[in-house]
Amino acid sequence: MDTAEFRRRGKEMVDYVADYLENIEKRQVYPDVEPGYLRSLIPEEAPEQPETYEDVVKDIERVVMPGITHWHSPYFFAYFPTANSFPAILADMLSGAIGCVGFSWAASPACTELETVMLDWLGKMLNLPEEFLAGTKGKGGGVIQGTASEATLVALLAARCRMVKRILSDDPERPEADIISKLVAYSSDQAHSSVERAGLIGGVRMRKIPSDSKFSVRGEALRKVLEEDKAAGLIPFYFCATLGTTPSCAFDYITEIGPICNTEGIWMHIDAAYAGSAFICPEFRPLLDGVEFADSFNFNPHKWLLVNFDCSTMFRSLKIWFVFRMYGLRGLQDHIRKHVALAKEFEALVRVDERFQISAEVVLGLVCFRLKGSNDLNEALLKRINSARRIHLVPCQLSGRFVLRFAVCARTTESRHVQEAWAHITQLATELLRQFPQ
Ligand code: PLP
Repeated sequence: MDTAEFRRRGKEMVDYVADYLENIEKRQVYPDVEPGYLRSLIPEEAPEQPETYEDVVKDIERVVMPGITHWHSPYFFAYFPTANSFPAILADMLSGAIGCVGFSWAASPACTELETVMLDWLGKMLNLPEEFLAGTKGKGGGVIQGTASEATLVALLAARCRMVKRILSDDPERPEADIISKLVAYSSDQAHSSVERAGLIGGVRMRKIPSDSKFSVRGEALRKVLEEDKAAGLIPFYFCATLGTTPSCAFDYITEIGPICNTEGIWMHIDAAYAGSAFICPEFRPLLDGVEFADSFNFNPHKWLLVNFDCSTMFRSLKIWFVFRMYGLRGLQDHIRKHVALAKEFEALVRVDERFQISAEVVLGLVCFRLKGSNDLNEALLKRINSARRIHLVPCQLSGRFVLRFAVCARTTESRHVQEAWAHITQLATELLRQFPQ
């Protein structure tokens, strides 16, 4: 492809992308394909001779789209949002063109510098304490990781290193392997599976702290487990607090946990993968109080701050820059507030239908709800919802109960989509309850 063709194809691709996003709600949100569907649609091996661009493009609709779950459809209410915006898409294009590898300042100065400044912008938007910022003195500062899972692992490895060094400085003869075998890391029993995985990769034992009736960890619960572990000769070194848990968007009490961690020399990492974006709104910022006790803090702009997935390669700060400038703090706050208002609208619909119940406090854009009745009944309802393919939801378990999660995800979701989704859910519930009266 030469430059002239690239210009033409690029414009065509922009049109394809704009059409895709503009008309996304006409596509079925969840695909019908079976596992392995794709292999039979393409050759077993890469082509010997070059093919034409037309041949490749034809396969987008034939091969790829039939197997896509349309995460940006306004009928997608599963998991948590993944961000998408036009400025971020354009910045990704530019990033692809520049295509440099910014592994050090000298390798491409703008990579390092834009990333540092963007993370300071973000820190200021969240009103983080001064120590979290690089500023001009360069003491704090953030870096972009690919995912929250990576950030949790990196923080755990850093905490492990800090504790091993600290013990060795007091007791230089002690074998490092002995220290590591005694290290213990903690998280809530509601934490994302990536926290447990970080412990496995880091080669340390993990303990889950029981959460309270609101699915949050309190300081007392942590203190109790710490006393037990220290009495057993173990070395507590890392606590991963969650702000906005995956199942129900619950918040650990970091104002209680933080001081305990600081006194005990335990590294407190905060995983706010989804909820972190909301802290740019002053009314949600109190949920982050206690961050001053943390050693590290992470959230995903690629979830709820309109910056497309992912942010791993440093130059990708370009898309943060584009998005922040083109939406402004106000525009980003409006986006978060709109989603929270839609979740509240859905919650209100659930609350007036006596057949249903709300299963966890609705703080941000996630509503956990269920039919009053057995787990089997709710599983059957979810199965009917997802088989109908009009909307897409996923479940979670809360205190042993099967619960449906309704997360406001797409940038383009409006009240009418929420109302339609609820009408659809209640119609399926009515049919189900007629067949299986409770
Ligand atoms: N932590 C929490 C609280 C999450 O909700 C999620 C995903 O939803 C993750 C971590 C994993 O995020 P990532 O896919 O960025 O690793």
